[in-house]
Amino acid sequence: MANCAIVGINWGDEGKGRMVDLLTEDYDVAVRFQGGGNAGHTVINEKGKFALHLLPSGIFRNGVVNILGNGVALDPENLWAEMQDVMDKGVVLTPENLKISDRASLLLPWHRDLDELEEQRLADKKYGSTKQGIAPFYSDKYQKKTILAGELFYPEELKAHLADLMEWKNLTLTKVYGAEPYTTEMLEEWLATYCEKIKPFICDTGAFLKEAQASGKNILFEAQLGSLRDLDYGIYPYTTSSNTTAAYAPIGSGLPSAKITNVVGVVKAYSTCVGEGPFVCEMFGEEAEELRKAGSEYGAKTGRPRRVGPIDIVATRYGVEVQAATAIALTKLDVLSYMDKIPVCTHYVLNGKQTDRFPFPSALKNAKPVIEYFDGWNCDISGARTWEELPAKAQEYVAFIEKQIGCPIKYVSVGPERDSIVIR
Ligand code: GDP
Repeated sequence: MANCAIVGINWGDEGKGRMVDLLTEDYDVAVRFQGGGNAGHTVINEKGKFALHLLPSGIFRNGVVNILGNGVALDPENLWAEMQDVMDKGVVLTPENLKISDRASLLLPWHRDLDELEEQRLADKKYGSTKQGIAPFYSDKYQKKTILAGELFYPEELKAHLADLMEWKNLTLTKVYGAEPYTTEMLEEWLATYCEKIKPFICDTGAFLKEAQASGKNILFEAQLGSLRDLDYGIYPYTTSSNTTAAYAPIGSGLPSAKITNVVGVVKAYSTCVGEGPFVCEMFGEEAEELRKAGSEYGAKTGRPRRVGPIDIVATRYGVEVQAATAIALTKLDVLSYMDKIPVCTHYVLNGKQTDRFPFPSALKNAKPVIEYFDGWNCDISGARTWEELPAKAQEYVAFIEKQIGCPIKYVSVGPERDSIVIR
């Protein structure tokens, strides 16, 4: 079987974790290739309910090797907390089923502080960061001012490297933000408390992946967030600080020679968005509250209420294009069952003209949604397991979206559980 990437088409939170959990059945290796602990995948299976932030969602399958690639923001503190959480619930983690790239850069303790300090400085102009240090981390990675996980195996060099970085970073902390400086003791404690715990899992994952590929193993690449949050193709600056697109998977995973033939784009049956920035199809008031409640749309990491709206065909079509998706998983269709009329944003109006093209970020704030209404199906569809078991109105809704976005909808998810799925 060919390699596959599972990616978000919209703003994230589309249900990628749920799809990875389902599809890893057919894969030997699952790799996270970008992002950090700033968003969460919720997975519900026979082992319980889990909020994963950094761990690949293949972690629940026996025999699947899970990899954190060089492209992730490796936060030892968050990762260790997450590892403990899943181990407490009976999931076994060993260096055999969890491997961390020695080339992943470490999110250092001050990255979280800097995220918080900058959002405070921005006040009402803030980006809506989850304050997990992701933007400061990636900035420093590209400035070559952080350390690689593999450096933990070279303690003498590491000590000197960290001291240099601390000296540099304390200038920003104290002189720009008036914050307290870091000390050597603080870093030593961080190394002992968190880095030492994850160290046994760090190895040359690039070599492992190369061998896995050569021996014909099936590899699944797992992304965080979605197309509209991609650093290069998303709604800049309301993006994340890494590439959420399938095209980045070979680089961020540690297997630059990977050919990804299947790209499963995950689309939610309606829209949600966490944080600031233009969200053209946003609903407000009671209508929004009802949808938010029906879909339990509260952030997995922060508990923040998500902004909600109807499915946005313009943004979704763009997202499909950016991901070069070969198949779509449409999730949370069951959430719309309460609606008599289902709104769909089919076009935008920009400068008085109707358009179906996703505009340049600066133009988005002036775009207005064109909404069409579809008849609802008004019945519980969570028990459907085949296309024929879906009511005709639900089939029409799915077929309309498929036609509009120009990509086959292969999976329709009707519940959070692993088997609540219709495969076409
Ligand atoms: P991810 O980051 O893309 O994995 O998405 P999240 O985990 O943040 O959000 C998806 C949420 O929806 C999780 O709580 C899932 O358990 C839940 N979910 C996924 N698919 C479905 C579905 O088809 N129906 C319902 N009702 N919930 C779903």
